Amino acid sequence: MNLILFGPPAAGKGTQAKRLVEQRRMVQLSTGDMLRAAIASGSDLGKQVSGIMERGELVSDDIVIALIEERLPEAEAAGGAIFDGFPRTLAQAQALDAMLKSRGRKIDSVVRLRVDDEALLQRVAGRFAESGRPDDNPDSFKVRLAAYNDQTAPLLPYYEGQGKLVEVDGMGTIEAVAKAIDEALDGVAA
Ligand code: AMP
Repeated sequence: MNLILFGPPAAGKGTQAKRLVEQRRMVQLSTGDMLRAAIASGSDLGKQVSGIMERGELVSDDIVIALIEERLPEAEAAGGAIFDGFPRTLAQAQALDAMLKSRGRKIDSVVRLRVDDEALLQRVAGRFAESGRPDDNPDSFKVRLAAYNDQTAPLLPYYEGQGKLVEVDGMGTIEAVAKAIDEALDGVAA
C-alpha cells in the first residue's frame, strides 16, 4: 500500500507515520527528514537548502522529487511507502503519480489530518521550546503555514477527484488519531 499523510505543518504526520511503520510493512518517506539529514551531513545539497528551510519556504520541486525517486525501490521492497510532507505542490503530486505509474504502482490513499490553525500554533510553540527546531520559530512557522495554505492545500481537490481522500480529525490525542487512521485504512485495499 502507498499512502500519503497529508496536513499542515505540526499536524502530527511524522508521529503517525512512525507508528504506521512499526505496525505495517511500510517505509516512511519524509522529505523534511531527508533534507535535515543533508544539512546535518554538510553536503552541497544541505548548504543549498538550509537557508530556505530555516525561513520556512519550500525548496524546489526538482530537489524533493529526486530525493523521493531515489527511495522508491526501497519502499517497494518493503511493501509500500508512507509519504510524509511530500507532495507539497501540484507539480510534485503529478511527478509522484508519474513515477509510481512507470513502476506499475499507485497511491492507494491520502489521509488528511485536520487540525485548526490555532491548535497548530500552540503545538509548535511547545515543540520549539522543547526541540529548538529552527523553522519552528514563530516567524518561520507563519511562512510554513502560508506555504501550506497557498501551495499544498490546493492538492486536496486533486486527490478528491481521484477518489483517494479520507479525512481524519487530527485534534485528538495521538492514540485517538491513530485509531481514526487505522479505521480509515481498513477500508482501503492494499
Ligand atoms: P517538514 O519536516 O515536512 O515540515 O519539512 C521541513 C521543511 O523542509 C519545509 O518547511 C520545507 O522547507 C522543506 N520541505 C520538506 N518537504 C518538502 C517538499 N515536499 N517540498 C518543498 N519543500 C519541502
